[in-house]
Amino acid sequence: MTNIENQSGEQIKLYQEQRLKKQLEYLQLHSPYYKRLFQENKIAVDKIVQLEDLVQIPTTSKTNFSNHNFDFLCVPKSKVIDYAITSGTTGNPVTIALTENDLQRLADNEYRSFTCADSKAGDTFQLMLTLDKQFMAGMAYFLGIRKLGAAAVRTGPASPHMQWQNIRRFRPDAIVAVPSFIIKLLDYAEANGINPADSGIERAICIGEPLRNADLSPNTLANRISARWNIQLFSTYASTEMQTAFTECEYVCGNHHQPELIIVEVLDEEGNQVKAGEFGEVTVTTLGVEGMPLLRYRTGDICCYYNEPCGCGRNTLRLSPVVGRKNQMIKYNGTTIFPPAIYDALSSVPEIKDYMVEVLKNDLGNDEIVLHISQSGDLDLVEERIMHVLQAKLRVLPVLNFVSGHHLQSMRPAESRKPVMIIFR
Ligand SMILES: [Zn+2]
Repeated sequence: MTNIENQSGEQIKLYQEQRLKKQLEYLQLHSPYYKRLFQENKIAVDKIVQLEDLVQIPTTSKTNFSNHNFDFLCVPKSKVIDYAITSGTTGNPVTIALTENDLQRLADNEYRSFTCADSKAGDTFQLMLTLDKQFMAGMAYFLGIRKLGAAAVRTGPASPHMQWQNIRRFRPDAIVAVPSFIIKLLDYAEANGINPADSGIERAICIGEPLRNADLSPNTLANRISARWNIQLFSTYASTEMQTAFTECEYVCGNHHQPELIIVEVLDEEGNQVKAGEFGEVTVTTLGVEGMPLLRYRTGDICCYYNEPCGCGRNTLRLSPVVGRKNQMIKYNGTTIFPPAIYDALSSVPEIKDYMVEVLKNDLGNDEIVLHISQSGDLDLVEERIMHVLQAKLRVLPVLNFVSGHHLQSMRPAESRKPVMIIFR
């Protein structure tokens, strides 16, 4: 396995350009979708030499991928080992077909991610993510744990009761979990006289939800965990389509890019690369993917990147937490708000048990926000707290609608794997 992460920025770029050349040749030969795209746009792949040349190639949107899903498949069906699907929180789920080499690539990715997150052979991980339901991340983490020479306790998203039972039984060094699930673990521990400090767990590799604000300070969710449990939290950024995870190191300065696996561009509205520290849409080109490789795929995720050297010695670019989704910008009183900022504000009110954000267009084409909330505690007090926190953090005054938890569940699409937190009308 190449170790490119510690080389200079210039060496990393040259390395990526060699890999890009191979990737383009592969697409030209094997990808029905990209063959057509090259032909229609008169693109000679041998003229794409430097990373800067990529702008000559049209980007691929989620809709392109979804509408022509199997035109992206580059191998005969007999070479497919696993069919994963995207979570479908936005739009229709998309299928990703993976070959044996693609599974090895996932293992390499998570092996490096765990190494980045201070883990080593001999560690034990309690894996609180599902390995079934065509979910890629659970499987990827399992493969990475195996490659690391560590052990997995595959509890999946089981009840807090069972998680604590297994923590007592197997004494894991680390957990892999969704941050809001860690809050549920802590609530259960508190209610049942379990002291989390006695667990022996040192680290949590967190997926699915951000732990940092855009300036990399801990967000409300991270603070709520840290206030009750002294463990090191590592954030990650990943998506099923890109088949790649970016993982934070102990220096907490963004999620590290793994140059062996993917090329990252961060693009503004006009499709130009933004400068370090500026927000844009993460656009990726996978490297080494055999089944369904992607070229200049627009993820819809809005991030910025940092490229100054990191204390860990890696010279790779780091991505910020996702501040929002491109198609989920809320226009509110002349400013743009992304849903995660609302989620972050609401997570600082412990009486909120569950919620759903509804965004409606008013007559003037502006967005109005309705919050459907299930809560415990004094209604007036909770209402006051919510209004205060939203006003102070975001200058947003939404309409509040208090409902039962059961009612909230009924508002969500039943088949979705991740709970839907926002609806646009
Ligand atoms: Zn680092």
